[in-house]
Amino acid sequence: MISKPHHVIIGSGSAGFGAALTLRELDKDCSITMITMDSLPFYHRYDLPRVFRKHHDWRELLDMPPSKYEELGINLRRLSRVVDVNGLRQFVSLAHQEDVSYDKLLVCAGGRSYLPENLIESAKMMHGFGSFEAAMRVYKALPIGGTVAIIGGDMVGIDLALTLLETGYQVILITNQQTFWPHEIPNNKRKPFLDALREKGMKIIDSSKPVSVTDNGASSPARTVILENGTEIVSDVVMPFCGLTSSVEFMLGAGVDIERGLLVDTELHTNNENIWAAGDVCQIWHDEEKIYKFYHGWKNVRTMGELAARNMSGAHDIFDVNIEDRLDLDNDGNIRSTFWIN
Ligand SMILES: Cc1cc2nc3c(=O)[nH]c(=O)nc-3n(C[C@H](O)[C@H](O)[C@H](O)COP(=O)(O)OP(=O)(O)OC[C@H]3O[C@@H](n4cnc5c(N)ncnc54)[C@H](O)[C@@H]3O)c2cc1C
Repeated sequence: MISKPHHVIIGSGSAGFGAALTLRELDKDCSITMITMDSLPFYHRYDLPRVFRKHHDWRELLDMPPSKYEELGINLRRLSRVVDVNGLRQFVSLAHQEDVSYDKLLVCAGGRSYLPENLIESAKMMHGFGSFEAAMRVYKALPIGGTVAIIGGDMVGIDLALTLLETGYQVILITNQQTFWPHEIPNNKRKPFLDALREKGMKIIDSSKPVSVTDNGASSPARTVILENGTEIVSDVVMPFCGLTSSVEFMLGAGVDIERGLLVDTELHTNNENIWAAGDVCQIWHDEEKIYKFYHGWKNVRTMGELAARNMSGAHDIFDVNIEDRLDLDNDGNIRSTFWIN
């Protein structure tokens, strides 16, 4: 008797979710385990700013109810952290001591918010925004009409900032190298985009770097951002939006090549025969440019998840690495980004 293959997916974001559905579509009998640190099943993170529009029921966010995972035979292991992968003996180790063996492994572990080194000591003074729970914490920490200081201002942060302005909050944007990430906009080309944000009511600090964030104790506003030139900026909440750093630590012993992300070829295959990677966690070989590149944005990562699943099932599909990356202004002066297009 031939036993059915066991596919393990690390991560339940856009890439992992798309991969699980594709694997099931291609093979009704294979066994699928999806391991995630998240507490909720998959939802689109781009929906998180909706908490400021009074959408506070997490069930509204979900792409698919938990019962559907069972129906599809996708074993969703929530609140489980992978701490190690043994690429030779083909098992993943979870923080709670359990080992899970696999025939084929797909790593879709995404990334977490990057924080410039000089701000790491201030991390506890800042709010993240990577999950529903984190978004609700920001919502609860902000008084009506309160002020958010955004450090950096990648495209995720700018999207949130525009929602905050539309819903009656104040936003101070303190720029740095990662402003407009993942777009790479040189300093001398930023002005029209910063002006467009000013036009929307955002206060822009473009003159000095933040060096620390302090807690104002019982007084309100609760935080002060201190800049290199000594300026102090007070706000109710401080949020870093400085791009992503890939979640690869647990792969360090797996025997796969890593630069900043997991390195894959255009079939999304790592250098281990049984391991693929997709989404924000991986860098894909660009043969013309002779470098490994990231392709962020939910549509790209969903395409990767589905493609990796097909290739794990025997196909040899190629990810198109020539993807348009564009930031511009429309005729009304609104910022348009290929990252935002849903
Ligand atoms: C607030 C917000 C707004 C956004 N807006 C947009 C937008 O407008 N347009 C757009 O295209 N993109 C947007 N994005 C980005 C988009 O959501 C990401 O590109 C996408 O989520 C990446 O998907 P992924 O599957 O690669 O990783 P993620 O969605 O980051 O998922 C990673 C998964 O891996 C799991 N994981 C990580 N490490 C481990 C571990 N050690 N053990 C177990 N599980 C682990 C996590 O729990 C998670 O389930 C936004 C993101 C955020 C946060």
